Amino acid sequence: MTATPSVALDGRPRAAEIRAEVALAAAESAAGGNRPRLAVVVATEDESTAWYVRSIARAAEKAGLACDLVTLPADSQPALIREELERLSADRSVHGVILQTPLPKGAVAAELAAALDPAKDVDGANPLSLGRLAAGLPAFAPATAEAVVQLLDFHDVPLSGRTVTVVGRSTVVGKPLAHLLLDRDATVTVAHSRTADLPAVTRQADIVVAAAGRIGLITAEHLRQGAVVVDVGTNPTPEGGLAGDVDASAATVAGAVSPVPGGVGPITTALLLRHTVLAARRAAEG
Ligand code: NAP
Repeated sequence: MTATPSVALDGRPRAAEIRAEVALAAAESAAGGNRPRLAVVVATEDESTAWYVRSIARAAEKAGLACDLVTLPADSQPALIREELERLSADRSVHGVILQTPLPKGAVAAELAAALDPAKDVDGANPLSLGRLAAGLPAFAPATAEAVVQLLDFHDVPLSGRTVTVVGRSTVVGKPLAHLLLDRDATVTVAHSRTADLPAVTRQADIVVAAAGRIGLITAEHLRQGAVVVDVGTNPTPEGGLAGDVDASAATVAGAVSPVPGGVGPITTALLLRHTVLAARRAAEG
């Protein structure tokens, strides 16, 4: 069998489109005296997180949004983080709030995010948002999960009637993504670390979404010929770089693979801004 080089599912063009729409909407809001404002709560000294958060702040400012980094000590007690989330939820000048992970030991993200006003929960972290999503009600979806769907749509990958295996069942990626894909009439399987014979499960799928946080987990052996592969993994490498969950061998079998970086990531950031602009608009409308 000859290997056909797979297509790269580039996320940057879709991200640029979203950022352009966001910049227009943010300018309109600002002209009406309501500049969209995003607050990012950080309670870690993790360097890759600091880099990610700075990239959100840069993108926000470029699009005309205000962005506040709220830095708490890395050994903060959950009660302190909760208080901060309550304060931001009550602050009318703030439209969107992100609780950045990782969190200090003992702090449970979903538990703390319950303190977030769902109207400002632009990364879908409040369990209410996930519940509403599952029930098919309007809610902000976690930006990464929504970004996967946007990436597939942008590259004209049909979802209706297709089989999709999502590898990873976290509250921020795997579970909400399964709901979004079901809403698009895909047939969804969610795999995880206890899945028996992962390659056999993923080989059934037309589309494989890798969101396990394990470098190179998905190899050629996991894929059927021509499968579309979305790599959500952003794993720091010992050399200080970033690696996905998909091994280079996947490209010899897959029809298309999303790159890391440059795939899901840029769309995720753009969607966080879009959600914030939407939240600001809704707040202004009362
Ligand atoms: P997480 O909370 O650690 O969840 C990982 C999931 O993968 C768990 O459900 C786990 O199974 C499963 N898993 C782990 N090892 C596995 C294996 N060998 N085989 C099958 N399943 C396995 O991680 P997360 O927050 O969802 O993030 C996943 C990845 O996405 C990370 O690399 C993260 O950095 C990246 N990410 C990227 C973005 C972006 O914007 N691009 C945003 C968020 C996250 P169990 O449930 O059984 O433990």
